Amino acid sequence: MLKTIGCGELRSEHTGEEVTIAGWVHRRRDHGSLIFIDVRDRDGIVQVTFNPDLAPEAHKVADGLRNEWVVQILGRVERRPEGTVNSELPTGEVEVSATRATVLGESKTPPFSVNDDAEVDEILRLKYRYLDLRRPRMLEMMILRHKIVKFIRDFLDKRDFLEIETPILIKSTPEGARDFLVPSRLHPGTFYALPQSPQQLKQLLMVAGVERYFQIARCFRDEDPRADRVVEHTQLDLEMSFVEEEDLLKLIEELYTELVETLMPEKQVTKPFPRLTYQESIESYGTDKPDLRFELKLADLSGVASGTEFRVFQTVLENGGIVKGFSAPGCGSFSRRQIDELTEFVKARGAQGLVSIALPGEPGPLDGLTLEEVKSAVSRFLTLDQIKAIAKTTGAEIGDLILIVAGPPKPTNLALGQLRNAMGQRLGLADPDRLTFGFVLDFPLFEWSEEEHRWDAMHHPFSAPKDGYEEFIESDPGKVIGRLYDLICNGSELASGSIRVHTRELQERIFRTLGYTPEQMEERFGQLLGAFEYGAPPHGGIAPGIDRLLMTLTNTDNIRDTIAFPKTQSGVDPLFGAPSPLDDAQLKELHIRVVEPSATEASKQ
Ligand code: ASP
Repeated sequence: MLKTIGCGELRSEHTGEEVTIAGWVHRRRDHGSLIFIDVRDRDGIVQVTFNPDLAPEAHKVADGLRNEWVVQILGRVERRPEGTVNSELPTGEVEVSATRATVLGESKTPPFSVNDDAEVDEILRLKYRYLDLRRPRMLEMMILRHKIVKFIRDFLDKRDFLEIETPILIKSTPEGARDFLVPSRLHPGTFYALPQSPQQLKQLLMVAGVERYFQIARCFRDEDPRADRVVEHTQLDLEMSFVEEEDLLKLIEELYTELVETLMPEKQVTKPFPRLTYQESIESYGTDKPDLRFELKLADLSGVASGTEFRVFQTVLENGGIVKGFSAPGCGSFSRRQIDELTEFVKARGAQGLVSIALPGEPGPLDGLTLEEVKSAVSRFLTLDQIKAIAKTTGAEIGDLILIVAGPPKPTNLALGQLRNAMGQRLGLADPDRLTFGFVLDFPLFEWSEEEHRWDAMHHPFSAPKDGYEEFIESDPGKVIGRLYDLICNGSELASGSIRVHTRELQERIFRTLGYTPEQMEERFGQLLGAFEYGAPPHGGIAPGIDRLLMTLTNTDNIRDTIAFPKTQSGVDPLFGAPSPLDDAQLKELHIRVVEPSATEASKQ
């Protein structure tokens, strides 16, 4: 080895030792005759001093060093002089007094500084990812990612799971997104697909008798850009035979609790994980991934609203809509501008508008409230009793602000759910050190697609209906509750899973409701349907996202910061310049001719 110890490993007990370190010049300070160089390697940073009287040759080398040059330094570990100890640095009690220095690699001036956390344009960071990953924050992320994956592997190994790799080149297994396709050279005109997830493969492994499978699996989805999505993500893919919901939930709860307690002991995990049904979640929080660190529950105000003179409420309710709201504690004296901002917020998320009722004043109970004290654009359409009823239903008191949205159920819930999350953050109710995991259960199996005018699988088509709902698969699909479960944490969805269908007959009924013809079923799912005819065990699984987990654990809102070499939101890799055109010879070999998109098509992309 070109070094005897890591830079970050040096402590006062090494005082007096001769060491050889090697790493990058993190920072260089010239104090007249003394030169100080902070040398950084994967283990951390240590200060090296170059004294021209003690080691003139080494001093000369240090004089020429610049940030990010690679150096090897031989020297003696010394305690730092009184008053110069750096308590911010784990190595801060010592320094290395250099006797020899060798340049192992020079560096151009980097396009951004590696030795601080300054904001840098993301495309530039991705183009020079090898420099970006040198930044201590990014390195820490990679170390944490490694530890998480290792923890998961060890945890599941102890529980008799087998890690089995499944192919990357498969046949298209539709799971809701578009496939990435790979042309076959040997079979002109045919294509492989990259897996959206190993869903059918893991189910086939259950038919094969594996009983407990997992894989740290790469999943590819050719989706339109979304802030928290990447075209290529990693998930812990897991499947078990002879299980029911409770077995999976227990396993996942143990895994996440132990993982956080071992790797991030500074975080508080709420135990046991709260559970709520999909319906409860939508009713109380407007979303199926609520932030459960705080209450701020939504209340159904349709009853009171229908009795008011306010036309908007009446029209919404007559058209099958809902009126819902919640109380933001202590926000009763929000300014006009602040309320306008909240209105814009919900409008941007599909709501028609926001009705606010402010109850300004010293915090306290409602008893003495008068109509004159209420601040609201709609107060003239409401009686004092109606306002009090709204306050009571939302749990508001004097000093609070009631926020109400009226409209069709879907956009209303969506907008309110996001407003609730945003208010929780703004009011400091979302403790960044707390992880409130939760399970959302009993999702509907099917969801009506307005655009395509047909039933879609809520999750994917392989999930089983709950007992007692099978009979509605054809007659009333919207009523069928599935054996589905999601793991959520702090407002994000971390995993989805289900107990699966394991008979050909039931699987075909579900496919039929989803509109597949017998030919389509055979073409896309023939392998799974066929396998179900050879003794398939009851089975179920789940697939927690690894990138998402890292985001939640580290309070990062950029998913790409959790991945070593991510693509941009629009699927571009600025480092390699992918995707890229192929040369004519390659295309010819694949029997592919590229037709340039027309100007209108190109502008749509
Ligand atoms: N295959 C599913 C997904 O990737 C997860 C599962 O049901 O296990 O979302």
